[in-house]
Amino acid sequence: MIFGKCPKCDQLVTSLTGSTIKMTIDETIFSAVTLNCPLCLTVLGAQIDPIAVKADTVDEVIDGLKS
Ligand SMILES: [Zn+2]
Repeated sequence: MIFGKCPKCDQLVTSLTGSTIKMTIDETIFSAVTLNCPLCLTVLGAQIDPIAVKADTVDEVIDGLKS
């Protein structure tokens, strides 16, 4: 398996840590996660929180079935 290096601490990144954060897109607030180097905590990426998206989708489907 090939691992990339953290651009800040120059160590191989073999795993990630994450934290939750809010992301604003066009004035709409979404739950998001940051993907961090486990050694120096540099943010290597961020994305919409897939668990929050799943929960919101389930809630919307349940609401749709009730109406
Ligand atoms: Zn690092």
